[in-house]
Amino acid sequence: MSQHATPPPRAQPHVVIVGAGFGGLEAARTLRHAPVDVTLLDRRNHHLFQPLLYQVATAALSPGDIAWPIRGIFRNQRNVTVLLAEAAGVDPTARRVLLGGAGAGIPYDMLVLATGATHGYFGNEHWAGHAPGLKTIEDATELRRRLLLAFERAELTDDPAARARLLTFAVIGGGPTGVEMAGAIVELARHTLRGEFRRIDTRAARVLLIEAGPRVLSTMPPELSETARRSLAGMGVEVLTGSPVTDVGPDGVMLGDRAVPAATILWAAGVRASPAAAWLGAEADRAGRVVVGPDLALPGHPEIFVIGDTAAAKDGKGRPVPGIAPAAKQMGRFVGGVIAARAAGRAPPKAFAYRHHGDLATIGRRSAVVELGRLRLTGLLGWLFWSVAHVFYLIGARSRIVVSVNWVWNYLTLQRGARLITRGSPADAAPPGRHADARVLEPAGDCRR
Ligand SMILES: Cc1cc2nc3c(=O)[nH]c(=O)nc-3n(C[C@H](O)[C@H](O)[C@H](O)COP(=O)(O)OP(=O)(O)OC[C@H]3O[C@@H](n4cnc5c(N)ncnc54)[C@H](O)[C@@H]3O)c2cc1C
Repeated sequence: MSQHATPPPRAQPHVVIVGAGFGGLEAARTLRHAPVDVTLLDRRNHHLFQPLLYQVATAALSPGDIAWPIRGIFRNQRNVTVLLAEAAGVDPTARRVLLGGAGAGIPYDMLVLATGATHGYFGNEHWAGHAPGLKTIEDATELRRRLLLAFERAELTDDPAARARLLTFAVIGGGPTGVEMAGAIVELARHTLRGEFRRIDTRAARVLLIEAGPRVLSTMPPELSETARRSLAGMGVEVLTGSPVTDVGPDGVMLGDRAVPAATILWAAGVRASPAAAWLGAEADRAGRVVVGPDLALPGHPEIFVIGDTAAAKDGKGRPVPGIAPAAKQMGRFVGGVIAARAAGRAPPKAFAYRHHGDLATIGRRSAVVELGRLRLTGLLGWLFWSVAHVFYLIGARSRIVVSVNWVWNYLTLQRGARLITRGSPADAAPPGRHADARVLEPAGDCRR
């Protein structure tokens, strides 16, 4: 990256965007015709459609169906330079994004920080190894591995207690991701894998959805939460509301003084913003998000914008903007507009006004709850709306076709096309901690089949 230490003089303002997620991508696209040079920096080479990540984790879709190379997306936008690099800090005085190491970093005239969020364990970060979250492709394939391996290991063991533990899946957090994961896991167990094992009945698997609050999908109206709870229960998910998790370990989870043995645990309960606030020495809210002004700029730094899941922004009416993809995109579009206006010598728009279109969550492969203002859809109708909305937002015709075909196929046949256990052998790919006992690996004939 040393070439950035002494950059050539630029005829146009240089805009650096860190993060090519929903917010950063939209900001860069909005600057398509602006008289600026854009450098778009991401530590990954792909843009990820996180709303469908749970489908990779549950073997319904492959990673390439929901992720696209950032370079490819900007192939035809000549004012964007894409860099694969990880930001390690910002020097607001020198106006540089620091990349770690000895380099001087990347200079900017205007900076957009769109580095998103990651899992938050409310101070219990040591739970992460036992209860991984879902944020990246690697997280999804790791979860897929753990899920599928649990069934394989249950097939191998003769110990009823170990088998029961291996066939118990605990999803912590009753928000949309938790609801979607629980629904997909129970379908995997009861339909997709049914009849494929000889020693276990996969339908005996227990899927627990554990929520500390009184209801699942707490941002939705209570009636839709209840619809979702009933749908999940009808599918076989045990919904445990009002059950704060007090500990997570290799053997399972603790709900107060009740121990729930579970070999596969998924964390979908909390998020924490990227460390942008620390980079900037800026005020942050409890989730670590940078408190920004009405124009999404850092107070005192009109040249630095923070957007998406990294920003604690208010909508036009003073309410917090939610950490969802449409909000990140709207912020990216707004900031792109501000920068374009400034670069062109026009008066920029003054304040960001968030428009909430609705909330959706899918429950299994043919049901969803949807709230669009006063319109509410549930069941198959909700699922059809959810499907069309998600396919529409995928990038490129190939992904839209592949994902649609996969869903239709899954709907008709209950099959999932991406049931791959990748990375390592059964022995080294064991779920963390004490799972099946040593005997599980002994019948080598079975094991290597
Ligand atoms: C499993 C899951 C399911 C979700 N489902 C939905 C849903 O159904 N509907 C919905 O609206 N929202 C959903 N969300 C939320 C939505 O994905 C986020 O609100 C949205 O992605 C936020 O966009 P962003 O641009 O702020 O961050 P992101 O999209 O997370 O992008 C951040 C980018 O910054 C990059 N980055 C981070 N740190 C650095 C660094 N130091 N240097 C360089 N690059 C860096 C990352 O690689 C990433 O590309 C879901 C999120 C998850 C995790």
